Amino acid sequence: MTYVITPACELAGLCADICPTDSIHYVEGSSDWPIYYINPETCIDCGACAAECPNEAIYMDEDVPAEYADYVEINEAFYTKGPGAELV
Ligand code: SF4
Repeated sequence: MTYVITPACELAGLCADICPTDSIHYVEGSSDWPIYYINPETCIDCGACAAECPNEAIYMDEDVPAEYADYVEINEAFYTKGPGAELV
């Protein structure tokens, strides 16, 4: 399991600042969205990012709302297949 940032994100960036494992990465210009990703290999599921988010944009993968379900795979693909592959 891991946390996932959904399109409800408005780029406040507080999550990346608070993450104790530097698991949240901002990727400028990869697409209109997503721009923030969470590395599922290094995330320790502490929940600090979700608690800090002012837009309630971050969820445990199993709790991601149905309309954002694709973003669980999109987030993981960024790390397993490389930047850009997540958008194919
Ligand atoms: Fe970082 Fe914790 Fe959020 Fe994982 S749950 S991305 S470790 S702040």
